[in-house]
Amino acid sequence: MIGLHCPRCGGECSVVDSRASRLGDIPTIARRRRCDNCDHRWSTYELAATAIAAVEARLAEAQTIVAAVRALAPAATASRK
Ligand SMILES: [Zn+2]
Repeated sequence: MIGLHCPRCGGECSVVDSRASRLGDIPTIARRRRCDNCDHRWSTYELAATAIAAVEARLAEAQTIVAAVRALAPAATASRK
């Protein structure tokens, strides 16, 4: 697979390993990549489009919970910069 560039230098990367993995309970393909230019190593995770929809549904649920908690206890969740 080509088309993803090194996050460090923008160079071309090679896939050095691909394996079945999971992000939580979502099946993914984990790919270990190595930059041909600077030798930086990094990983990508490939999700099915249907899995992305499931993640979006969970995110919406989480946002609903956060909003409800903030409504109940605004001081407890206020930013502390
Ligand atoms: Zn690089």
